[in-house]
Amino acid sequence: MIKDAIDIKTNNLESYWMPFTSNRSFKANPRMLVAAKGMYYTSQDNRQILDGVAGLWCVNAGHCRKKIVEAVQDQVSKMDYSMAFQMGHPSEFEFAARLTALMPNDLNHVFFANSGSEAVDTALKIAIAYHRLNGQASKTRFVGREKGYHGVGFGGISVGGMVNNRKFFGPLLAGVDHLPATYDLEKNAFSKGQPKWASNWADELEKIVSLHDASTIAAVIVEPVSGSAGVIVPPLGYLKRLREICDKHGILLIFDEVITGFGRLGKPFATEYFDVVPDMITSAKGLTNGTVPMSAVFVKSEIYDAFMDSSGDGAIELFHGYTYSGHPLACAAGLATLDVYKEDDLFNRALSMSDYWENVAHSLKGYPFVKDIRNLGLIAGIELESKDNMPGARANEVFARCYDAGVLVRVTGDTIALSPPLIIEKDEINRLFETIGDVLKKVE
Ligand code: PLP
Repeated sequence: MIKDAIDIKTNNLESYWMPFTSNRSFKANPRMLVAAKGMYYTSQDNRQILDGVAGLWCVNAGHCRKKIVEAVQDQVSKMDYSMAFQMGHPSEFEFAARLTALMPNDLNHVFFANSGSEAVDTALKIAIAYHRLNGQASKTRFVGREKGYHGVGFGGISVGGMVNNRKFFGPLLAGVDHLPATYDLEKNAFSKGQPKWASNWADELEKIVSLHDASTIAAVIVEPVSGSAGVIVPPLGYLKRLREICDKHGILLIFDEVITGFGRLGKPFATEYFDVVPDMITSAKGLTNGTVPMSAVFVKSEIYDAFMDSSGDGAIELFHGYTYSGHPLACAAGLATLDVYKEDDLFNRALSMSDYWENVAHSLKGYPFVKDIRNLGLIAGIELESKDNMPGARANEVFARCYDAGVLVRVTGDTIALSPPLIIEKDEINRLFETIGDVLKKVE
């Protein structure tokens, strides 16, 4: 029986339930990737596919970097797993120290998890527990944002603001409010970089505070640049204003930097790009260049110290963690990833490419169906007019046709979202946008 199961070599695609995928369409017309190197995937039909999205915003240094691959191979042959609770291994401490050195001010401590979703849930739990330790146990509410994406855990979908990720899953976390999305095409369409016009989007936080009282609110969580809802860039001054209001009311500010971390904006993290320092930062993806799953929550010393000072000697300070927190393979991948980022000066490279990227992206203005183009760092979003009663259908067609033409893009709703590895060359930027432009002339 077991042997039979092992011997099954099949083209049957039915067993696997794919995530965030139209399983039926995929299985009717599968797109299989079998290898990756640098800027390119190799498809099962042996074509080179230009990766316009760094996997899923994670392979910032390009695919299968030798140093990272060898570091993981070396680690797995020495120690596959190390018990995560009450035991340690040197590379998790080294990785934590090197990561916190990338952080501003006193974001000096880092907690490891395995995915962006877990990092978000970790940060939300730390926020509530921190206030409780400070004698403010009534501070339990959260404020997220419409169109926000913070992964798929119950915490993340509760503070997130994408309707399809929420509506199927019941009442979610109690006590969550949402700021408005910083999205207004009438005023800000085709802005290059940060839009100049802002409604009272940040000041809406004051309204939420007056409704519930600051004594009930633990934290505000936002993506500095929204990715999954279709690349929404914050207007000038917005994040600073959120910081001011949080400070005024003793509310923690969490930046979800799962996509903006590790050079995406041409700085190590968006906190530095926007010159706004939150109390916690969640990150993942580029942390290990996508090689081994891992995520991280950075916290201010004040928060870490509150836990360390809260209980007697020998007591566990935070009843939270994962079997795979600080996994040796992930740490090996992460340490080698930091080396590659440094050796290639990749964050500066992203910065130096961003003007070129912006100009080529905006050259698609005027193409069929293009109703907005948004960009920052090496991110771009091209929003298309939706087909009547078929939201997402046009962008999906663009995705499929681009893939046939040898270019991998990502679509979310009717926005094409682009976030290439930071090693992308100018001719590859040209090819990426030219392919999308050609495809736009063909879709209906
Ligand atoms: N937060 C943000 C901002 C993200 O973009 C994502 C994933 O795209 C997540 C959280 C969730 O990460 P994961 O899919 O690793 O759980």
